[in-house]
Amino acid sequence: MSSARKQAPPELAAVAGEAVRHLEWLRDAGVAEVPVPGRPPPSPTATRTPTTAGAPPSSTAPSPASVGAPSRYALADKGCGSPELLAVRERLGECTRCNLAGGRKKMVFGVGNPRAELMFVGEGPGGDEDLQGEPFVGRAGQLLTRMIEAMGFARSEVYIANVVKCRPPENRDPQPDEIEACEPFLKAQIDAIRPRVIVALGRFAVQTLLRDGSPIGRQRGRWREYQGVRCMPTFHPAYLLRSPDEKGKAWEDLKLVMREFGKEPRQGRP
Ligand code: SF4
Repeated sequence: MSSARKQAPPELAAVAGEAVRHLEWLRDAGVAEVPVPGRPPPSPTATRTPTTAGAPPSSTAPSPASVGAPSRYALADKGCGSPELLAVRERLGECTRCNLAGGRKKMVFGVGNPRAELMFVGEGPGGDEDLQGEPFVGRAGQLLTRMIEAMGFARSEVYIANVVKCRPPENRDPQPDEIEACEPFLKAQIDAIRPRVIVALGRFAVQTLLRDGSPIGRQRGRWREYQGVRCMPTFHPAYLLRSPDEKGKAWEDLKLVMREFGKEPRQGRP
């Protein structure tokens, strides 16, 4: 009998590959245990702490820092200002889970108040963001900052993140597999921050958070819900730079958000 290992049939290899990808996704989403039929459930000490109703799971795995191992990341890093966010950043690591890893200069995790009540979610980093490692710092970012300030908030009071953390080459749209690979980390960030309101900026943020592929022009200005958090879809600032006539509609959407925080819209718009 030959000692050579038999090759698995192609269908079996495809199923096994799919299973591995699914388990990797669960791991990235912070799931520490997968029940196995016929085996007793994990002990209570191994069970994750329940999150707020409907919220995505956050990592309860100890960070390297908390078990004494040196960490490459720190609370002072951009977007990591709480132990929960730092744990997400550590889990992300020097991520190579999708093709976008190859083209990035800096990963753009997020920025802002780790306990923000208001969070903005955009699409992905552009050239300036890729260089600086901070979301929304280019022209679109300057417009977003003016929008935030016109709403009566400081940029440092809110939290800003993107659907994908690495720059798509030539600023192309992020692809479905790239969004799928990065999405667990956005969810974990939202779970760590627990904002009262999320403003979803543009098509990709809305599609990712709300699973709704209808045009942003039809979705904007209507309150939706993302895992128990109120969510307001509106136009992306980059689109507003290209289509300044739409700024008035975006400002109407942001005024609805302001009212949610008891802030009175002033005259004019950013
Ligand atoms: S875009 Fe997200 S999933 Fe892809 S390499 Fe960057 S951090 Fe990883």
